[in-house]
Amino acid sequence: MKYIGAHVSITGGVENAPLNAASIGANTFALFTKNQRQWVAKPLTDENINKFKANCDKYGFDRSLLLPHDSYLINLGHPEEEALTKSRNAFLDEMQRCEQLGLKRLNFHPGSHLKQIDIESCLLRIAESINITLAKTKEVIAVIENTAGQGSNLGNDFEHLRFIIDHIDDQSRVGVCIDTCHTFTAGYDLKTQDGYEKTWADFDRIVGFEYLKGIHLNDSKKELGTRVDRHESIGKGFIGMEFFERFMSDNRFDNIPVILETPDESIWKEEIALLRSLSK
Ligand code: ZN
Ligand code: MN
Ligand code: MN
Repeated sequence: MKYIGAHVSITGGVENAPLNAASIGANTFALFTKNQRQWVAKPLTDENINKFKANCDKYGFDRSLLLPHDSYLINLGHPEEEALTKSRNAFLDEMQRCEQLGLKRLNFHPGSHLKQIDIESCLLRIAESINITLAKTKEVIAVIENTAGQGSNLGNDFEHLRFIIDHIDDQSRVGVCIDTCHTFTAGYDLKTQDGYEKTWADFDRIVGFEYLKGIHLNDSKKELGTRVDRHESIGKGFIGMEFFERFMSDNRFDNIPVILETPDESIWKEEIALLRSLSK
């Protein structure tokens, strides 16, 4: 079965996220567990935690299938030691917040070399950051998101994801999230039938479906291979509706969180209903 949701707001507290997700007909969702524009956030209170769990139960969300996202400020491959330490500390806090909330996956962008170190050195830093964090936590899986490769962001090439996984001590606690907009603008054709089959065959050969722990389902405002990260509403961008039809009939994407990060949240409910209608 397909689990479909969107990245919903936590305004007023994390405990509101399940309500926001239920209101759009979602059966999973993504959220930030803190204000993602700030380095340091207030700890979650017992009230936040208990209400979050109670609301998940009330609205029928399986917490193991939710896909929290970390702060965009974090760069686990930062070339400078001080900034790297700051990122690692913030990432550990994010992981611990997930543990407190009973969440099992934490989605994050791998990191950026900022043109100061080479790709391999940066990927090694990212892997080390993940290893340090996994050693200090239990259960939560570190879910690396592929990127569009904008600027000096790594993770646009499936080989980058493989390289990081290869350097993780406990591979039972690492996974990947594939963002369809990022994949397309990174240069993997998801639009045509042949491109669809080749892209997922490449993914399976290089990374492996056993590591797939989530999907960000977005259309793209930019063309194939442009390396620009601009999401578009379902069927309205350069990837196009045929892709979403194929995707919804493809059982390789069952039983993982499929999250919309499309720009017009006023139509999330319709987008989810539309996607469900395509599911065969
Ligand atoms: Zn992301
Ligand atoms: Mn994404
Ligand atoms: Mn994006």
